[in-house]
Amino acid sequence: MKKWEENVRKVVPYTPGEQPKEQNLIKLNTNENPYPPSPKVAQALQEMTIDCMRLYPDPSAHLLVSAIADFYGLKEEQVFVGVGSDDVLAMVFMTFFNSKKPILFPDITYSFYDVWADMLRIPYETVPLREDFTICAKDYCRENGGIIFPNPNAPTGVELPLAEIEAIIQANPDVIVVVDEAYVDFGAESALPLIEKYDNVLVVQTFSKSRGMAGMRIGYAMANPVLIKYLNDVKYSFNSYTMDQTTIALGKAAVEDRAYLEETVHKVVETREWTKRELSRLGFVFGDSKANFIFAAHKTCPAAELFAALRKANIIVRYFNKPRIDNYLRITIGTQKEMEAFVAFVEKYLSER
Ligand SMILES: *Cc1c(COP(=O)(O)O)cnc(C)c1O
Repeated sequence: MKKWEENVRKVVPYTPGEQPKEQNLIKLNTNENPYPPSPKVAQALQEMTIDCMRLYPDPSAHLLVSAIADFYGLKEEQVFVGVGSDDVLAMVFMTFFNSKKPILFPDITYSFYDVWADMLRIPYETVPLREDFTICAKDYCRENGGIIFPNPNAPTGVELPLAEIEAIIQANPDVIVVVDEAYVDFGAESALPLIEKYDNVLVVQTFSKSRGMAGMRIGYAMANPVLIKYLNDVKYSFNSYTMDQTTIALGKAAVEDRAYLEETVHKVVETREWTKRELSRLGFVFGDSKANFIFAAHKTCPAAELFAALRKANIIVRYFNKPRIDNYLRITIGTQKEMEAFVAFVEKYLSER
């Protein structure tokens, strides 16, 4: 090792799901929406002029912030935007998790949390989920430096009821509680109303899943104005111009089309419920997902084997070779047609095995 390497910030980066180059794949591995963004987004893109690109974007992304505030009936001072919720969450870790006490998150959860904690030297402890993959709220009622969990949780899809989220917030008035609601639009109850009642809760959402805009990179946090101010102070100390003009304009167009969001979410939910019935019939076990994916184990066929067979058939799902979950596949809900092809392949594979 070179002398200078002693002073390198060494990190083990997050591994995102595969984005394969091949066409004609059924891609059920990264929880993207199978439907395109609102047609209003295409229209807004056409209306953009090239000349405006000479100018720096508005660092406050005011047009997008105000559109999001209008959508949820909030004040602009209650909304923070970032380049995907990954950017928002990284800012949240940097801003609010500065205690010497460990932050808490579930042992089975979004695998970026421990990466940010390690990178930012934040002590953390993971809290085991129950055997059925539910979060036990009581386990979060102890000394800590902050709390974060997704609701519904990823990769399990399991929802924590709002009353239990409120119990966690009430038991932790001295730290910030972050609810990562990346998948909440697919049927879980949002903790958003709690931001009016508690000053220590922050709700994070994204355009990547329910609004079908993972490629645009838009995430947002909603909380009381004091928390939002602290977040903006850190953001402006790091990089003021994170969100580009195109993203601001297209994000605004997307959030204004509430009807389209409801329509596409409805289609995904219908297909999810159909897929659950089919998976049960084929001998899978899984929690009651409220997200746009199902986390399932087969009663006799090991997940790693099925994962490889699916990959050979050009169907990609996600497999995590980690303790407690190494016999599960996380299957993103695609179009109805894609899920029918998925089910047909699995049924045939299992019957010939
Ligand atoms: C997908 C996801 C995110 C990140 O989404 P962005 O594309 O960065 O907005 C954050 N949290 C969870 C739990 C996710 O699954």
